[in-house]
Amino acid sequence: GLTGIQQLVASKLRDIPDFPQPGVVFRDFTPLLADGAALGALVRDTAARYAGRVDVVVGIEARGFILAAAVAYELGLGMVPVRKAGKLPGKTYRQSYALEYGTAEIEVHTDAFPPGQRVLVLDDVLATGGTAEAACSLIERAGASVVAVEVVLELAFLEGRRRLGDRTVNALLTV
Ligand code: AMP
Repeated sequence: GLTGIQQLVASKLRDIPDFPQPGVVFRDFTPLLADGAALGALVRDTAARYAGRVDVVVGIEARGFILAAAVAYELGLGMVPVRKAGKLPGKTYRQSYALEYGTAEIEVHTDAFPPGQRVLVLDDVLATGGTAEAACSLIERAGASVVAVEVVLELAFLEGRRRLGDRTVNALLTV
C-alpha cells in the first residue's frame, strides 16, 4: 500500500493524454504545486530524507527548479540550476543527450560547486533518464558527487534508472 505522503502526492498529479505530442501521457504536477498542504508535505518529506547527507540541491530546468529551491530552503542549503543550453551567463560545461527524436543540450556553471560537494538532484519526472544522466555527468565534471537523483514520479516502463548506472535513484511514486 501507499504511505500517506504517497497517497497525497498521487492525488495531486494528473495525466494529460497526447501532450506534448500524440501518444505521450504528460504527468502534470501543477495541481500538486497549487496545493499548499501537498506541496509542503512533499518538500518536508524530501528534505528530511536528505538532511545531513547533502551540501547543495540541483534542480533540472524547468520543473526541477521549483522543487530544488523549496527543498534547498527547507534544508538551509543552496540551489544550483542545470539549464538548457544558452541560458547560463557564466562559463559552462555542456552535455548533449539523446531524446526520442533528436538531441538536447544542458549546462551547468563550471564554478557551481566547491570541490567535493555532495549533491541531491531533483526533477518532477524520470522518463528515459537521458536528462537526469546528462545532469549527473555535468555535476561530476564540475567536481561534485551525486548522492541521489530524486523524482516525484518514475515512469518505470521507460527504464530510465538503467541509464543512470550505479547512481542512486529514488522515486516517491512509480508507474
Ligand atoms: P527523460 O530525459 O526522458 O527522462 O525526460 C525527463 C524530463 O522530461 C524531465 O525533466 C521531465 O520533466 C520531462 N518529462 C518526460 N516525460 C514526461 C512525461 N510523460 N510527463 C511529464 N514530464 C515528462
